[in-house]
Amino acid sequence: MSALPLRIAFVSLITLSFALTQTRPSLDGVTGKWYKGNLHTHTLNSDGDSSPLEVATWYREHGYQFLALTDHNVFTDPTGLNGILAAREKFVLIPAEELTDSYAKRPIHINGLNLTKEVQPQHGNSVSETIQRDIDLIRAAGGLPSLNHPNFHWAISAADMAKVRNLRVFEVFNGHPTVNNVGGGGSPSLEEMWDVLLTGGQQVYGIAVDDAHVFKQTGQEFSNPGRGWVVVRAESLTPGNIVKAIEDGRFYASSGVQLIEVVTSANEYRIEIKERPQEKFTTYFIGAGGKVLDKTYETIATYKYKGGEKYVRARVESSFGVTAWTQPVFR
Ligand SMILES: [Zn+2]
Ligand SMILES: [Zn+2]
Repeated sequence: MSALPLRIAFVSLITLSFALTQTRPSLDGVTGKWYKGNLHTHTLNSDGDSSPLEVATWYREHGYQFLALTDHNVFTDPTGLNGILAAREKFVLIPAEELTDSYAKRPIHINGLNLTKEVQPQHGNSVSETIQRDIDLIRAAGGLPSLNHPNFHWAISAADMAKVRNLRVFEVFNGHPTVNNVGGGGSPSLEEMWDVLLTGGQQVYGIAVDDAHVFKQTGQEFSNPGRGWVVVRAESLTPGNIVKAIEDGRFYASSGVQLIEVVTSANEYRIEIKERPQEKFTTYFIGAGGKVLDKTYETIATYKYKGGEKYVRARVESSFGVTAWTQPVFR
């Protein structure tokens, strides 16, 4: 039997599963639906300009399905708000906090996602020890730690992060205007730092967030909402399932590019991009050392593994000036 009928059968199966339902097994056996959310936002409980209800309502009305209110060293219990705003499979608030610590005037901010209780800074004798102690506390409180904006005040280097255990998530994009996402002046970008960690064997995933503080004025100089988010493939819309999917790397991060599907199999890494009128794309598949393994302009971007890749991840750049980052697959 030739390979051709097999391939046709394979393609038809995928097309059919697209048509029938949104909940479908992908080629890697992962099931679930896609949910959009923001994991970093402030309210009047710290230095935001709007109440928790106003902030959550903004996200609910702008097409998001989940949100974490992450005030500085304040745990905003979302139970009451969920009683007002949550709706099955439509919207939910994740209990969270931005653990706000420092070492030698360097800000060390770590979000605790799906926390069971408030946590307070643990401090330490170095940047990495401070991060470690805060991460350990967040884990002990049932939360998923996410290291925020490493280049804010140029506080945290890849070498600092490389010393930390149990760090699974960090911000590769933060929408605040002064967090230095792209590096500069000889300091690496967050994406370059990510590749240093991945090349060193640290299995870290990259999220995009708003870090929104300002909802009542709009402008480039303000930390407004709607600039960075994640789209997560989870079994259902509960805080536990969303956070579990993030810890497992079943999501992509975006500053504006929408993806239809991300599929990884034994042979390939495939990304299907949702195109808008006039929009063009360049997708880079990236491996160890930040090396570009391949580049494509197609809206179905496929990388066939050649063998020997330590990991493969992708960056999808849009002609509109926005980006999506998909998560590393370790080979
Ligand atoms: Zn912060
Ligand atoms: Zn923040």
